[in-house]
Amino acid sequence: MAKVVVDVPTMQTNQPYDYAIPAPLADNVVPGVRVVVGFGKGDREVMGVVVDTTDQQDFDGKLKPIMRVLDDHPILDKELLALSRWMADDTFAFWITCLQAMLPSALHADTKWLANGAKTVVNRGRVATEDFIVPLLKHDEYLTLVDQQRTNAKRRITLLQALAQWSTDGAEPRLLSVAGPDSFDRTTVKAGQSQGWLRIEPREFYRRPYANLDAQARTHALTPTAQQQRALDALLPAIDGHKDQTFLLEGVTGSGKTEVYLQAIAATLAQGRNALMLIPEIALTPQMVRNVKGRFGADVAVLHSALSDGERFDEWRRIERGEARVVVGARSAAFAPLTNIGLFIMDEEHETSYKQDDSPRYHARDVLQWRGAYHHAPVLLGSATPSLESRARAAKGVYTHLLMPERANQKPLPPVQIVDMRAAQLDSVSGDFSNELLNALQERLDRGEQSVLMLNRRGFSSFVMCRECGYVAKCPNCDISLTLHMDSHTLRCHYCGHEEPVPTVCPSCGSKRIRYYGTGTEKVEQSLHKLLPNARVLRMDVDTTRRKGGHAKILKAFGQHEADILLGTQMIAKGLDFPDVTLVGVINADTALGLPDFRASERTFQLLTQVSGRAGRADKAGAVVVQTYNPDHYAIQLAQHHDYEHFFVTEMGIRHQSGYPPYYFTFKLTVSHPEDRQAAKAIYHLADELKHSLSDQAVMLGPTRGAIARLKRRYYYQIVIKYKNEPQLHATLERLLTETQVGSRNGFQVAFDREPLSFV
Ligand code: ADP
Ligand code: ZN
Ligand code: ZN
Repeated sequence: MAKVVVDVPTMQTNQPYDYAIPAPLADNVVPGVRVVVGFGKGDREVMGVVVDTTDQQDFDGKLKPIMRVLDDHPILDKELLALSRWMADDTFAFWITCLQAMLPSALHADTKWLANGAKTVVNRGRVATEDFIVPLLKHDEYLTLVDQQRTNAKRRITLLQALAQWSTDGAEPRLLSVAGPDSFDRTTVKAGQSQGWLRIEPREFYRRPYANLDAQARTHALTPTAQQQRALDALLPAIDGHKDQTFLLEGVTGSGKTEVYLQAIAATLAQGRNALMLIPEIALTPQMVRNVKGRFGADVAVLHSALSDGERFDEWRRIERGEARVVVGARSAAFAPLTNIGLFIMDEEHETSYKQDDSPRYHARDVLQWRGAYHHAPVLLGSATPSLESRARAAKGVYTHLLMPERANQKPLPPVQIVDMRAAQLDSVSGDFSNELLNALQERLDRGEQSVLMLNRRGFSSFVMCRECGYVAKCPNCDISLTLHMDSHTLRCHYCGHEEPVPTVCPSCGSKRIRYYGTGTEKVEQSLHKLLPNARVLRMDVDTTRRKGGHAKILKAFGQHEADILLGTQMIAKGLDFPDVTLVGVINADTALGLPDFRASERTFQLLTQVSGRAGRADKAGAVVVQTYNPDHYAIQLAQHHDYEHFFVTEMGIRHQSGYPPYYFTFKLTVSHPEDRQAAKAIYHLADELKHSLSDQAVMLGPTRGAIARLKRRYYYQIVIKYKNEPQLHATLERLLTETQVGSRNGFQVAFDREPLSFV
């Protein structure tokens, strides 16, 4: 008998179903393989994953049998099966959704694909093959044949000579289509085949992303600086001693966190164990992949969403087969089928991309910690600006705190100049640039140095601000910025539901220069061309990087000095390391502050610190110019002084006072329905149930309309629960999830989000 989690996501099916194992399939039905089973009335064929098997027989013949087995070996091992169950419980997601989230999309069976007659062992269908040449004759026989050819049959002779060579050295078959001296034209090879000289054999091969990086010179370990050595001295005993300890490596930008990661990985490999490293978005940080590849070469596998499905599948199989010892990847690489793991690393641990905003709403940090406990291996979190949650855990001693307060090259962090845009002289073209920033850019141009310019597009047009005094409309009850709702032309609070009309005159200073805030990169690029006609500008944003490899191309061009200014959105704030960048300009530091989000200050501080860290990383000193309408805001002031510690203390005080994380745990429930009234009714019903079931320990915010009240023809409502200790929470939510699933047939959708990144 097999326990099968079927691909029918409803709460009733969150437990596995029992199926009988027909005798002919007895050897193939093992935990971790995908199967096809009949489900429900009419025995609809659905995909399922076997999570357990028992010897128990189906004596009374009541169980439905497994119809087909889709894999010739388990695609999820015992660890990952257990992890999927834990994740389903922890995130209130369907078990099958969790299982699928762990697999590369090439292995997601959909119903269409099943209907198209999927056969046993479908894996093979997704594998790339290439034609290989296999010699069939002996060395001497080939030489004889060479002599028999007419002298002008050059191609045949070349082929025969090659075959003679290959037949002696017992080498692997040769790829037919390879370029260079080993390449033969197909006609000649086909002729050889019909002569019986060779066989053409399709063989599996790996689509290798970054294969060209393999050829790069191997880099050697650097001699650690004193602060790197201190971090390593703390880490290595945990690696050697198989301790599932979590470390927070807080190191300023340029402090050399990468070298610590690499040496820790090297130590892990020396122990005979493997290492898994997560980075936020690989496309944005190609340098990290290059660093890891440079150190560990072909042992490295890379997993991320910018790869084609085929490439990702192939990298995944290399890991699964034990052919890779180091895995580098974005969020979903947390599920890499790596075994025998001795170290987990998460670079830039504060990044929001580590949390999936779709079901299953997991945070990769939690997944790494679960796996760390499973493997008895340490988890190393690194950042220049740790999330408040992690930093608070370090303060409590839950995490071991490692500090690297200085840059590896002993250079100071760049000075940050704050430009008060309310008082500044602005350019006449667009009004986006202050004289200070323009002059700084011009200086770099004159000296032949490079600049990075960031335009913060977050919260584009989603709030209103006075350009005269910097006033941003805030909720009277919550001290949170109000969100602009264009459809109804109102400002609303997403925390308490407060609503007011959009002002036409600034309530603070009476000015009429009230704006929906937001500037596009394209527009800024155009004004740059007018303001600095000699500057060569490269633009990096969603538009210019849509195509595969778009990021890499732009970054490469910038690295080769094909431009003087790299203009981009937040995506340029991450780990770029260009030695000739001596100026970082931030066009608008405020947009994140205007967001109706209790993490707005944290995000602003992180972003400014990260982007400032791009300046002056090598010999030339760097500088940063930040334009803002809120020069007195503590997030901006403290970012100016690179003062994370002070920011942490200040922000924790505010979170404590307002009762926000990390002082409280939070949970967000969202309900949507095509009809507004139905959605509203459902959320108020949920609110009633929660009030009934939860103790007065838990605080409920809402119900309120969703940030986007209507999306894709559905109306959204939400509730946020804050709690410190609420023993009833899990059982209550579980029950509500089951109940609401019954309603899902009537067009309801319910989303449960543990520790949402924001309340909006
Ligand atoms: P972070 O990730 O902490 O911002 P990086 O790892 O990018 O910093 O390191 C910043 C720079 O310092 C890089 O150019 C790196 O090569 C250099 N570096 C790091 N460690 C050392 C070392 N031990 N000796 C010499 N240079 C180092
Ligand atoms: Zn409010
Ligand atoms: Zn004003």
